[in-house]
Amino acid sequence: MKNLWSDKEARAYVRRYARDGVNRDVALRVYTTRLLGGDPQLVLHGGGNTSVKTVATDLTGEKLDVLCVKGSGWDMGDIEPAGLPAVQIAPLRNLDALDRLGDEDMVNAQRRNLLDSKAPNPSVETLLHAFLPHKFVDHTHSTAVLALTDQPDGAKVCREVYGDRVALVPYIMPGFALAKSCAEIQRKHPNVEGLILLKHGIFSFGESAEEAYGRMIDLVSLAEQRLRQDRKNPVFAPAKKVTDRPARVAEIAPRLRGMLSLGAAESPTRFVMTFRTSPAIRRFVDGAEIGRYSQQGTVTPDHAIRIKPRPVVLPRPSANDPDAFFKSAKLAIESYKDAYRAYFVRNNTDKANPKTQLDPVPRVLLLPGLGFFAVGNSAKAADVAADVYENNIEVITNAEAIGRFRSITDPELFEIEYWSLEQAKLGSAKEAALARQVVAITGAGGAIGQATARAFRAAGAEVALLDIDARMTTTLADELGGLAVSCDVTDDNSVASAFDAIATRYGGVDILVSNAGAAWQGKIGEVDDKVLRDSFELNFFAHQRVAKAAVAIMREQATGGALLFNTSKQAINPGKDFGPYGLPKAATLFLSRQYALDYGADGIRSNAVNADRIRSGLLTEDMVKTRSKARGLSEQDYMAGNLLGREVLAEDVARAFVDLAMAEKTTAAVLTVDGGNIEAALR
Ligand code: ZN
Repeated sequence: MKNLWSDKEARAYVRRYARDGVNRDVALRVYTTRLLGGDPQLVLHGGGNTSVKTVATDLTGEKLDVLCVKGSGWDMGDIEPAGLPAVQIAPLRNLDALDRLGDEDMVNAQRRNLLDSKAPNPSVETLLHAFLPHKFVDHTHSTAVLALTDQPDGAKVCREVYGDRVALVPYIMPGFALAKSCAEIQRKHPNVEGLILLKHGIFSFGESAEEAYGRMIDLVSLAEQRLRQDRKNPVFAPAKKVTDRPARVAEIAPRLRGMLSLGAAESPTRFVMTFRTSPAIRRFVDGAEIGRYSQQGTVTPDHAIRIKPRPVVLPRPSANDPDAFFKSAKLAIESYKDAYRAYFVRNNTDKANPKTQLDPVPRVLLLPGLGFFAVGNSAKAADVAADVYENNIEVITNAEAIGRFRSITDPELFEIEYWSLEQAKLGSAKEAALARQVVAITGAGGAIGQATARAFRAAGAEVALLDIDARMTTTLADELGGLAVSCDVTDDNSVASAFDAIATRYGGVDILVSNAGAAWQGKIGEVDDKVLRDSFELNFFAHQRVAKAAVAIMREQATGGALLFNTSKQAINPGKDFGPYGLPKAATLFLSRQYALDYGADGIRSNAVNADRIRSGLLTEDMVKTRSKARGLSEQDYMAGNLLGREVLAEDVARAFVDLAMAEKTTAAVLTVDGGNIEAALR
């Protein structure tokens, strides 16, 4: 592992933060915290923490000895001084005299000694930092170090590698007891450069930022060297060779996603899944002994909060016999849920502090022949679980290369997964109305499509933005954390591959907004057949094509769904010379009702939005100009030519789609969004 310390960079940090009144210690603490946090081999998604002991001045000018320690909610990779809240150190050190201290009391003691009452909670490992005497203390969950300690004889391996450069700390859950134990062990070995916390991670320390950071890099490098010696090759003996083709990811994702969901069919609790694969993942999932090494627990304790103590191993999905795969996958998932409930009952033994059971759904699905799905209550949570699991695969692979992977025990995993501080967070964050749902929006690059994507994201949905040119939507997709997909809705293959991409990214789809369209004109008795047919292709058949693709996925999931069609007032109230546009739109309105009728029993609702006079792809700025001029009206009066006399915006149409998506007892409805147009009012 490369030491990235640079004197020049360090000076630049000191200068830059001095302008904000940040002292040299804290500026350098920010610098090396970022160096550590920038390397996923050391720190992943909020893991790890650092501190510095320094002096702060309060409002009265009094100088106080403080510990600036990583605050929760901050990532080391992009930390700022505000992410290292200052806590008075003397009162924290006094706690060392106690025999025991509960987590809530510990958090409270830390909070009441903060200099800034609005600062984030100091790390749960704050006391450990406070009790150690060194000025700079660094802590990571280094992949290489974990591979050494996560062994049945991890302590022996570490002693061989490190000699007396570090002291070893037996596994204790993070909190007061661990802090006390680390401090005691360090006092017995005052000359060590760091501590290895068995089955957890590594601390290094020093009198300067450079020294503590350099020691971390040196110690991790020693672990890396050890991992290069006497490696088994291959690490995982592959399972028996199978010759038939594995099923495609998109083929199996929706049904698996449906199997994960909880609760009644009318109001299921869904999950979002994301797929990962790579040569390293394949070697891991294709190993003959996957049932052993994947079931030992997580590589460091706090991963249990993200991915649960263990993943579920599914059978290899064969393209030739999907039914057999789904049958055994269902059994595997059901027995995982049962085993999880049993694990909860077995370990929930503290009568004084009974815990609330978390959902029993696996967060990782291992698929021999393919890779794995990570699962979460949002795409973001699924992505974090996927990163964490890839990290687990790396550690387990390295541990198995030199020995055997072994994690902490079940009761220890339970203790961390059901940590009182985590339990306290339950139920405090209310989920958005459309959280856990995936919406596909066609014509997403246009004004209505963009407004619709924003509205669904604001309601908590994961958004897939389909447009004939994905470049139209990549910026918006980035902003919304969504997926931009190129899709020509008039082409079967293009639609099929767009929905495959959505199923691979999110596991499936719950809501379709079939919005793409364009206006064709012509006097109906004279119009060229081709014009009419082209319009039918986009304004009718494309709606049918995407609805068919979405319904196929929804039926696999068996958790209902919502189809939403952008029809037009033309479907009800024909405009002169707009036959080529109105005819297919009328058919699409009928299509919406046909879907409502044919798939109501599957819990799939189908509704339409009937909009008029919206500045969009259909009504361009040029058209607004010509039409208002032809009627002798100002543009504004033309656009507001409705019963309410108010211009209707793309955002109004977007809100109607969201409202219909939420209206769980409404199907076969048409919602007008036109400011009032009595000729287009439905009877
Ligand atoms: Zn830790």
